[in-house]
Amino acid sequence: MTDSDQFRCELCGFDFEQVGQLTIGPRVIRSAGAIAALITERPELGSLRPSPERWSVNEYAAHVRDVFILIRDRLVVGLVEENPGFKPGYKDERLALGLYAADTAAALANELPPAAAMFTRLFDAIDPTHLMRPVQYGFPDPSEQTLLWMGRQAVHESEHHHLDIIENLRLLSGTTKVV
Ligand SMILES: [Zn+2]
Repeated sequence: MTDSDQFRCELCGFDFEQVGQLTIGPRVIRSAGAIAALITERPELGSLRPSPERWSVNEYAAHVRDVFILIRDRLVVGLVEENPGFKPGYKDERLALGLYAADTAAALANELPPAAAMFTRLFDAIDPTHLMRPVQYGFPDPSEQTLLWMGRQAVHESEHHHLDIIENLRLLSGTTKVV
């Protein structure tokens, strides 16, 4: 991975540098609302994986909800500590341990908008002069990032997985195959 790749997601094309600070909150809230609407529309498809390598709609939605919470807390650490690193988010382990097993489409649709709103209120409360404070971030590769970058990453995670959910629903339409 080159330096320029670091700012663009190879899978969805998301360009981190194009996300202005003031658009982060509105974009997070918009994609959380869009995901909530989608999973409410087709709750019967929520727990199905269209293929072994893809997560289910509900799993993607639960991951996005947890990303909002996780990055929100990391922002606080980044404001208080000097150039901190973070414990991993353990996204795969959350699934393997069954921690999302009770996350229904209805519950997730209720939880995503408030999680996005909580993230946004805190992000918007940060003194803009602090947004370039450095943090050590483990994703996509271990590297030095900033609080602003973490805000952009919250947008990326929600928009990237919004596209995953759209793709799952497309793949699952007309089928009840469970894998
Ligand atoms: Zn992406």
